[in-house]
Amino acid sequence: MSKLHNIKNWTRQNLRRWMTEKSMKNFKVQEFRADQIFYWLYQKKVTSFSEMQNIGRETRNIMEENFLISTLEKCEKQQSQDGSIKYRFLLEDGLSIESVFMPHTSHNTVCVSSQVGCGMGCDFCMTGTMGFVRNLKTAEIIDQILTVWIDQPEGKKIQNIVFMGMGEPFHNYQNLLQALEILTDEYGFNFSQRRITVSTSGLLPKIRRFGKEKIRANLAISLNGVTDAVRSKLMPVNIPYNLEKLIKVCREFPLESRRRITFEYILIRDLTDSIKDAKGLISLLHGMKFKINLIPFNYAPGSKYQPPSLEKSRIFQKYLLDRGVVAPLRISKGQDIQGACGQLVVGTKVLN
Ligand code: SAH
Ligand code: SF4
Repeated sequence: MSKLHNIKNWTRQNLRRWMTEKSMKNFKVQEFRADQIFYWLYQKKVTSFSEMQNIGRETRNIMEENFLISTLEKCEKQQSQDGSIKYRFLLEDGLSIESVFMPHTSHNTVCVSSQVGCGMGCDFCMTGTMGFVRNLKTAEIIDQILTVWIDQPEGKKIQNIVFMGMGEPFHNYQNLLQALEILTDEYGFNFSQRRITVSTSGLLPKIRRFGKEKIRANLAISLNGVTDAVRSKLMPVNIPYNLEKLIKVCREFPLESRRRITFEYILIRDLTDSIKDAKGLISLLHGMKFKINLIPFNYAPGSKYQPPSLEKSRIFQKYLLDRGVVAPLRISKGQDIQGACGQLVVGTKVLN
């Protein structure tokens, strides 16, 4: 194992601090170099210190003696008919993760993973069948975005990031937060906080904590059921943190003006797709600033659940729209490549 630090695990503040300490030991590394290095890494997207043209040789040498710049190995790339692209990346310990590039008319989105596998055990989700394997490091989160970005044709930019790939982001809180810092840093990717969405199954203590952070991405909650009976059956997280507690925390979540919480709601045939459920949704969320993403269930082989008919999904949606609720029906992208919501799953064995 290399003794070098992976620079993408560090925020700019950390790097500045390190440089101050180095300077005190007469290495003459000035801390503003941290800003320049971030600019090269995340705006110019270079992969070596030697490409950082305005950084002197002496500083570059010191950086090379202490840091490495990681890259992610693409081991599979599948393109969907709808234009989305699923990437599988090989990690240094032989595990792999997936990310999805999703083109839209006005913007492009990358859906990133936060863990290998997921320990939340939701009954409908393929990632959940893997169980928890390990948390991703900050660099592994950042490298997904960089690699997908660099892989697009010249000039095609990424405008939105969603933490909706494999894993429960709030189970990997510290690394998630560092990644958010790099993503929103003006010398880093310089994303607006409004362009980043973190989706959670409902880890209440972490939602509360997230509401107090300086950097606040959009919050999405996977709701998926409007009664405790149904939600607990689908999502074991509902047992410690039931709907009443969840909704209370959501109501207390601080929102800036013109921002709202997104609730993801999977339409599952004969379980969550009735008008009674739609009514339940409205009364549960009444008075909150929210929108609902309706996601017809994506079937995976072996699953005990089925999607509703498109007609039934539309009736459900219309019920909400007629009552003034913002409720886009999200026909998941990338279904033909198993890249849609909940379909990301990879073997946990070392790949040869
Ligand atoms: N673990 C986080 C982030 C992953 S987001 C979370 O659950 O919020 C993945 C989203 O896809 C979640 O909203 C989940 O409810 C949804 N999902 C999972 N499996 C699905 C499936 N088979 N069909 C449709 N949506 C699914
Ligand atoms: Fe984990 Fe989210 Fe899948 Fe639930 S839906 S198992 S929390 S990835």
